[in-house]
Amino acid sequence: MPPSDTGSGTSGLVPVLLYHSVSATRRDDPWQVSADDFRADMTAVVASGRTPLTATRYAAALRGEAELPARPVLITFDDGFADFADEALPILTGLGLPATLFVTTGWIGTTGMLSAAAIGDLAAAGPVEIGAHSVTHPHLDLLGRRAARDEAGASRGALEDLLGRPVTAFAFPHGSHRRQTVAAVRAAGFAAAFAVKNALSHRADDPFAIARYTVHAASTRGQVAAVLAGDGPAAWGGERLITTAYRAVRFARHRGRPVPHPFAV
Ligand SMILES: [Zn+2]
Repeated sequence: MPPSDTGSGTSGLVPVLLYHSVSATRRDDPWQVSADDFRADMTAVVASGRTPLTATRYAAALRGEAELPARPVLITFDDGFADFADEALPILTGLGLPATLFVTTGWIGTTGMLSAAAIGDLAAAGPVEIGAHSVTHPHLDLLGRRAARDEAGASRGALEDLLGRPVTAFAFPHGSHRRQTVAAVRAAGFAAAFAVKNALSHRADDPFAIARYTVHAASTRGQVAAVLAGDGPAAWGGERLITTAYRAVRFARHRGRPVPHPFAV
């Protein structure tokens, strides 16, 4: 049975929020969250009394190498949109919240995405951990093990060259992964990997498939508050079968076609 958050603060359900673009100007983008909504969510994070952790610190706790606070929370971003620096970072900094940004390295400096200099500034400025999110944002579970390892490893290498420090956390593009994908990411030298699942993580979660909850344009503040309260499905069991079935659909859909950019998850 999944653990449940009884309010005791010790049951171990962990919200790992996933954002993409945060913008003051509304675009027709289902994955974008307005700056006002993001500020409301981050204010709710503070009000929740949870302890915000970076990806690496949380993964170390899952591996038993570090103490896990009683009520952790993680704030993560995928892809590396330029508006992270302009819109999200001031809100995070103002509230004293650390976050983790997973960067698609092949998109660095392209339209709407962070530049290399901006990513360097983020890492130097403070409470933002930089993780990797592949080079070209493919469905890694549709690639062979060597190609998947190369995608993960090349994104890690590019960021380590840019930052001059180890990059140990990875996020699967689209959340797509299977056993072979996890092995490829481990072989590429990562110590942790984040999935999607739209479920709550927990202290027994797999450090190479950590569950996250996507906040998108249609998400309500009430839904985010519920997740922060530990009220939601925990990452156990059944999603693996759903992921496997969906893989066949995605394989047929994406085979031989370029992946659109920028886009979701
Ligand atoms: Zn992505």
